[in-house]
Amino acid sequence: MDKEGFLDKTREAVETVRIHIELGHTIRIISHRDADGITAGAILVKALSREGAKVHVSIVKQVSEELVKQLKDEDYRIVIFSDLGSGSISLIKEHLSDRTVVILDHHPPETTETHEKHILVNPVPFGANSVRDLSGSGVTYFFAKELNERNKDLAYIAIVGAVGDMQENDGVFHGMNLEIIEDGKSLGILEVRKELRLFGRETRPLYQMLAYATNPEIPEITGDERKAMEWLRNKGFNPDKKYWELSEEEKKRLHDLLVIHMIKHGAGKEDIDKLIGDVVISPLYPEGDPRHEAREFATLLNATGRLNLGNLGVAVCLGDEEAFKKAMKMVEDYKREQIEARKWLIQNWSSEVWEGENVYVLYVGNNIRDTLVGIAASMAINAGLAKPEKPVIVFADTPEDPNLLKGSARTTEKALAKGYHLGEALRKAAEIVGGEGGGHAIAAGIRIPKARLAEFRKLIDRLLGEQVKGNEDQG
Ligand code: C5P
Ligand code: C5P
Ligand code: C5P
Ligand code: C5P
Ligand code: ZN
Repeated sequence: MDKEGFLDKTREAVETVRIHIELGHTIRIISHRDADGITAGAILVKALSREGAKVHVSIVKQVSEELVKQLKDEDYRIVIFSDLGSGSISLIKEHLSDRTVVILDHHPPETTETHEKHILVNPVPFGANSVRDLSGSGVTYFFAKELNERNKDLAYIAIVGAVGDMQENDGVFHGMNLEIIEDGKSLGILEVRKELRLFGRETRPLYQMLAYATNPEIPEITGDERKAMEWLRNKGFNPDKKYWELSEEEKKRLHDLLVIHMIKHGAGKEDIDKLIGDVVISPLYPEGDPRHEAREFATLLNATGRLNLGNLGVAVCLGDEEAFKKAMKMVEDYKREQIEARKWLIQNWSSEVWEGENVYVLYVGNNIRDTLVGIAASMAINAGLAKPEKPVIVFADTPEDPNLLKGSARTTEKALAKGYHLGEALRKAAEIVGGEGGGHAIAAGIRIPKARLAEFRKLIDRLLGEQVKGNEDQG
């Protein structure tokens, strides 16, 4: 990628923001409601406060017309969007033309034609892969580092956001994420190890760490705590020990045994590669604390965002111990619900799924919460319910509006190689059936009128088919 081009944009944004700080303007920050967005918000709050700026931050689900109109009614002179905004450049242009706007994001932008007072800082037009090379928190990290070198001490928080977005989904970090890691290492605030890449390193007994494994799944063990316990005991491990408590030798033995188990059960190479790989830990927190390891930290933040308490998540990132204690109480339910969702999928997939040439569409009603449909879609792939070369879209009813459905689409690198781009397909489909959609090639979201689901299924199957065909035509 053209890293210098991207950094030039970052500098332009920094210069603009500096002027507003000097004028004493409060900086209005709007960030996304997942771990990536929450860490992005926290990085901005910390970095801007260090320059003496006042900030007002809100963590939101999406950039809606309602939100943009509300910002128009507020009297802040400058708004920074982080980990969102790239899909709403025209909307922002239309309503906020009298404000300074900075968009620090990694979603494929709908256009790079912003209003002249608006600055888009996004690595994708410079050649980055939106789900591998840099996350929203990473973009804000480079902005913060440009503002002041000392913000390099926010490298760990930035990597927590990257892990929350699964930027190292294939087992290793890529692109500009590597520079953040180097910064963190040089300050001694993070470490990358080759370890088991599953949720639960710090706080879960080994048997739960294995039974909760959904990316990748561990054949025969995922979803079955009793079997996980038995397997560990048979191999001579104490199932109640935590992964961090194992000696290096024990970890190595566990890794070897798991790999053998995966091979024996016919797991694919990608799944085996994912199992052991880059795990980021930080000596800023004690062992056994979920904040000590990036995946557990990110899960903690996602649990706050899901309950609309993203600001609590921001406080956790800023070191607020009371906020941390509150957030801890939310993780249990969040993980339990994921396990329940997986069970429901396994029991109901074959009777409920609609399968087209190019897509699976599953409507779950209220059986899976609308905030978990993305996880459900990727679980369907990882559990082998859906073939990896065909995208999956899961829809649920949403408490926001009884006439709307929330959908999430997920797929794999294998499918992308055929030419699919889920974000573009959902954007087009939403324009046709009414609603809004967009996102990355590999992961995207949509809201549509409930009454148009049947029409949507046929439409998205055709749109995705055209993408594959377009790809074939180009040879
Ligand atoms: O300022 P506070 O964090 O309490 O507000 C939550 C935010 O949620 C508001 O900034 C508002 O703009 C945003 N919001 C939204 N979508 C809506 C309604 C409000 O993003 N439909
Ligand atoms: O908010 P957005 O950028 O926030 O989130 C990225 C999404 O892409 C996450 O839901 C993440 O799980 C998904 N993802 C994926 N497969 C990958 C990388 C990311 O489904 N290989
Ligand atoms: O299969 P049929 O279209 O008759 O299902 C009735 C409605 O229920 C559908 O039109 C759709 O709105 C929804 N549904 C679905 N997918 C499922 C189950 C139900 O789209 N797997
Ligand atoms: O909503 P969901 O988690 O399925 O979204 C997957 C990805 O698509 C996220 O990165 C999200 O920010 C993005 N998205 C988007 N525009 C939408 C809906 C989702 O960019 N309208
Ligand atoms: Zn993101």
